Amino acid sequence: MKSQWNDSDAEAMAAHYAQTGVGRDLALRVYSTRLLGSDRRLVLHGGGNTSVKTTMPDALGKETQVLCVKGSGWDMGDIEPAGLPAVRLEALRALRSLEALSDEDMVKQQRLNLLDPSSPNPSVETLLHAFLPNTFVDHTHSTAVLAISDQPDGAAICAEVYGERASLVPYVMPGFDLAKAAPAVYDASPAVEGLILLKHGIFTFGETAREAYERMIALVTLAEERIAKGTGTLIQSSAIPAQVAPLAAVAPILRGALAECSDGAEGSYRRQVLEFRTSEAIRAYVGGEDLARYSQQGVVTPDHTIRTKNRPLVVPAPAQGSLVEFKAAVESVLAQYVAAYHDYFARHNGAEAERTELDPMPRVVLVPGLGLFGAGASARGAGVAADIAGNTVDVITDAERIGAFQPVPEADLFDVEYWSLEQAKLGKAAEKALARQVALITGAASGIGAATAHAFASEGCEVVLLDRDGGGAEKIARGIGGAALGLECDVTVRHQVRAAFDRACEVFGGLDIVVSNAGAAWQGKIGEVADEVLRASFELNFFAHQSVAQNAVWVMRAQGTGGALLFNASKQAVNPGLDFGPYGLPKAATLFLSRQYALEYGEDGIRSNAVNADRVNTGIFADGFLEERAQKRGLTPEEYLRSGNLLKREVKPEDVARAFVDLALSPKTTGAVLTVDGGNIAAALR
Ligand code: ZN
Repeated sequence: MKSQWNDSDAEAMAAHYAQTGVGRDLALRVYSTRLLGSDRRLVLHGGGNTSVKTTMPDALGKETQVLCVKGSGWDMGDIEPAGLPAVRLEALRALRSLEALSDEDMVKQQRLNLLDPSSPNPSVETLLHAFLPNTFVDHTHSTAVLAISDQPDGAAICAEVYGERASLVPYVMPGFDLAKAAPAVYDASPAVEGLILLKHGIFTFGETAREAYERMIALVTLAEERIAKGTGTLIQSSAIPAQVAPLAAVAPILRGALAECSDGAEGSYRRQVLEFRTSEAIRAYVGGEDLARYSQQGVVTPDHTIRTKNRPLVVPAPAQGSLVEFKAAVESVLAQYVAAYHDYFARHNGAEAERTELDPMPRVVLVPGLGLFGAGASARGAGVAADIAGNTVDVITDAERIGAFQPVPEADLFDVEYWSLEQAKLGKAAEKALARQVALITGAASGIGAATAHAFASEGCEVVLLDRDGGGAEKIARGIGGAALGLECDVTVRHQVRAAFDRACEVFGGLDIVVSNAGAAWQGKIGEVADEVLRASFELNFFAHQSVAQNAVWVMRAQGTGGALLFNASKQAVNPGLDFGPYGLPKAATLFLSRQYALEYGEDGIRSNAVNADRVNTGIFADGFLEERAQKRGLTPEEYLRSGNLLKREVKPEDVARAFVDLALSPKTTGAVLTVDGGNIAAALR
């Protein structure tokens, strides 16, 4: 591993922060923290922390000795000085005389001694940093260090690799006990450059930011060199089928299986969003003959267990053309996984029955022949699980190269998974109404479609936006942010629709809500209109809805967790307008289509509903149409839009979007039409 330290970058950062009153020590602490945090072989999703001991003025202007230590919620890769809150050093050090300190009391003491009480919580490893005498302290969960220490004889290997350069600290759970144990090991040989926390990670330290950082790189490199000497390889299983089923077909089966039925009678599910990863290294790992052994030992460093649980689910390789058998096999291995999780909880919970068992569903799924999936309550959470799973592949592959992977024992991992501070968070963060779901919206680059995409996203849904204007869909998706996906798709072209649904399955694992919205208004007096006009309108205003709904039902049935189909009908579907036959006829057919789906897929828990909107100015009318109509009546286009309804209110795209969300949130409603037209009695359904 090469040092990325660059003197001129470091000086530039010190000069930059000096302008805002940030001292040189803290500025350089920010610089090297970012260097560490931007290398995934060292730091991944909060798995690491850094500190510097310096002085700062307190509220009275008195220079005070402080420890600036990484705060929770900050990513080391792009940390700012505010992400390293200052804690009074003397007060922290005084705690070292205590025999014991609970995690809750430790957090209280850390907060109590913050120079600025509005700072984030200092890292759980703060006291360890405080009890070491060195000015700069760096901590990472280096994959190479984990690979050599996650071994049955990890201590012996590390002793041989590091000799006098680093001392070894036997595994102790992070918290006050580790904060006392590690500095005690340091005090016994203070000439060391670092501490190897067996089966957990590595600390290095120095008098300057550069010294601590360069020592991290040097000690990690020693571990890498030891791994390079290994000759072990993962033996590939002969059981992988020659033709593996495509990702887009496999993902919905897994996603459906991973959705916990939270209330069978109500048909409600605690779903997960998936994120797929693959590479040559990942396929070699999931295709290994010994996968069942090395993948089931536990996480590579204990704090991963909070994100991924201790073990991934391993499913059989999905052979092309055998998805029915695959689905049955997934259900069977998952049932075993869930039973094993309940046993694990019962086994370690012991007499302290006050702990709450977490949901038993896996967060990582390994699929031989294909790759791995991360699962989570959102695309973000799934991405974190997938990142950690990818990192695990690297560590275990390296560990098997020099020996056999063996992490911390299960009982210790249980203590971290059921850590009291994590348990205290349970049930406190309320999820949004459509969290854990995925919605696909057609015609999403503008008007009702764009408003609908925003409305679903703001309810916590992951969204896939389809539009003939792919650039427009991408732009709206970027505006929504997060994992929102914009795709080019002409919904009148069947293979494009299929490709878009496949893409949604590949990116999120499947989908739960489909808003078939794309449409356009064709006009013509029915007795005279050209056949091509009518057929073109039927292509977009009827057949495209059918093609979208067919694909939706295919994915929803593969998942087996119900779903919601939502159609944008129109008041034209029930109340014909002069010269609007070419628009109204296919819309009437689409309204009927919605009911046909409600009838035929109710038994699968799939609901089908429509929204009838009227006079929404969303650009579906030909240019100048509204202006012309308004002018005829001596009105502005806005007045014209308001004048035609009972409430005299303009119907906006957001109003229609709200109706789609409401229908998605109505578990007992199917075959319905919701009218959003400000009141139009001639179009009222009977
Ligand atoms: Zn750590």
